[in-house]
Amino acid sequence: MKDKKQKFPSELRLDPVSQDWVLIATGRARRPETFQKDARVSVEDSASACPFEKLDEQEKPTAIFLNGKQVGQGSAWSTIAIPNKYPAFSPIASPHTSIIGPYQTMEGVGFHEVIITKDHTRDIPEFSLSETKELIDVYQERYLSLMKKEFVDYISIFKNKGKAAGATIAHPHSQLIATPVIAADIQRSLRGSKQYFVTYNTCVHCSMLEWDLKEKKRIVFENDAFVVLCPFASRVAFEVRVYPKAHLSYFEQIIERQKEQFSEVLLVAMKKLSRALNNPDYNYFIHTAPVDEGKHMYYHWHLEIFPKTSTWAGFEISTGIEISTIEPEQAAAFLRKQ
Ligand SMILES: [Zn+2]
Ligand SMILES: [Zn+2]
Repeated sequence: MKDKKQKFPSELRLDPVSQDWVLIATGRARRPETFQKDARVSVEDSASACPFEKLDEQEKPTAIFLNGKQVGQGSAWSTIAIPNKYPAFSPIASPHTSIIGPYQTMEGVGFHEVIITKDHTRDIPEFSLSETKELIDVYQERYLSLMKKEFVDYISIFKNKGKAAGATIAHPHSQLIATPVIAADIQRSLRGSKQYFVTYNTCVHCSMLEWDLKEKKRIVFENDAFVVLCPFASRVAFEVRVYPKAHLSYFEQIIERQKEQFSEVLLVAMKKLSRALNNPDYNYFIHTAPVDEGKHMYYHWHLEIFPKTSTWAGFEISTGIEISTIEPEQAAAFLRKQ
């Protein structure tokens, strides 16, 4: 018991074969019996039992916004960022790393915040443009603040909606996790972008956008600065991506006007998906260049939306080849009509 108390909440472990990092909950690990099928966590969806209805002083908000403006501690709020009560990564002065035989570990140093919008039931498809923009403002504010911290190499901003997408609280919220390592998926994406850049002296994302905008088949919606599309190699049915049209590697560098345009396309994309798939569960996340002081100008930030239209089965898990059950061109045509 004593030993358990001293444990850091989480530990990164490196798979020596795939070179993928995984995160193991150590300090607050669940008892093995709680993994039985019937004991799995259910989504808390009633407002009376919602932990986000009565945030108090204890929560120590990291950013408070009210009607489009950042305000001070203790103020009323319309969007708020707080540290996650059960963080996957936690701040620490200097993380302990170790090598055990063929294995390598590192304490899960980093930051884990929850970004909450006020209303218990209204979510992005029902938001106004200014409410959506406020959410993006908070994303950017927290990103800019946490990227300065030590040991932060990558910042992931994501949103899970619904039980099928892994959300355990129904109240609309997003999360931000700042990690000391760059995940394998991101590394692959960076490597592919760099290789193309070295070979063709241009950004692969810009090349795809130029082609798709000309061909129009996979375009769902666009405004001056952003485009919503179903990617050529969609990984799931109705996968949607949002790209800035101009080459921009770093999400956190978007300026006011771009944020307005981004909010507009995000809102349109979420409305269309909601109508097309009858309010589906989904995950969305921002893919952006890391904050490890490397130069990643060949990268092109974007947002990916994965509606929960299927679950991974044996073939997907064993090969990583995902099966999308509709052509992206058909999905885009359907979404354009919504
Ligand atoms: Zn709530
Ligand atoms: Zn580009």
